[in-house]
Amino acid sequence: LDAHLAPYVGENGELKGIVAVLHDITDIRRLEKMRSEFIANVSHELKTPITSVKGFTETLLDGAMEDKEALHHFLGIIHKESERLHRMINDILHLSKIEQHMIPLEVENVNVAEVVDRVADTVRKDVEKKGLELHLPVERECWVKGEKDRIQQIILNLVSNAVSYTPAGGRITVSLADREDEVAISVKDTGIGIAKKDLPRLFERFYRVDKGRARNSGGTGLGLAIVKHLVESHQGKIEVKSEEGRGTEFIVTLPKQQ
Ligand code: ADP
Repeated sequence: LDAHLAPYVGENGELKGIVAVLHDITDIRRLEKMRSEFIANVSHELKTPITSVKGFTETLLDGAMEDKEALHHFLGIIHKESERLHRMINDILHLSKIEQHMIPLEVENVNVAEVVDRVADTVRKDVEKKGLELHLPVERECWVKGEKDRIQQIILNLVSNAVSYTPAGGRITVSLADREDEVAISVKDTGIGIAKKDLPRLFERFYRVDKGRARNSGGTGLGLAIVKHLVESHQGKIEVKSEEGRGTEFIVTLPKQQ
């Protein structure tokens, strides 16, 4: 509690009492703590790829460049790590903007079925490379009021995760349920699943179930935090069901009217 005291003086200057203004600062403290944890996390996450880029360029400059094969290999790693840095910085900027409500929703009529198709086009190559099956909704139309790009980002993040966390031969199913005043989008996979204990923290920034593996998959740990914010900016809800070793389903419900 934060208190400010001030004398309460009457017309003739006599002291009538004390005015006390009390602020509950638990929320402010909590936000400050979150913010400093966030900065610590960001610094740590950015350090990893930068250290790698720095190390490999130094090795190349020290002479490894003469070896054509090493040159090729190291440049490949440097390229991959700089792409990850790029993605991470974009994600961080994006997240902080939506958290500060700096970008208001640009509401339009959005056909979610069409958005799912676009997402499918984006991930098709990765799906084929991994030998996965991708099943798409049968509906050709499913309308909500919202912002197309944000809805696309929500679906893309969920489908990309399904691709990342489903081993070869698995299946990813996107389905839609068109209800009276809301639309439910389900992204279901037959992947590695998530342990019960990890579910409550899944939507936190930088939270990953298996840090090493997730990092290798090129993830930033920000995807689901972004999804949650985007869903909330549409007054929607997100729910996750998962079973370790069997698969995961994310269900996003968006109201039809904003
Ligand atoms: P990342 O960039 O690491 O994928 P996300 O915020 O998108 O970050 O996801 C956070 C963590 O949740 C992931 O690291 C992974 O451990 C887990 N996760 C997300 N989606 C799935 C899924 N479909 N199957 C299994 N685990 C998942």
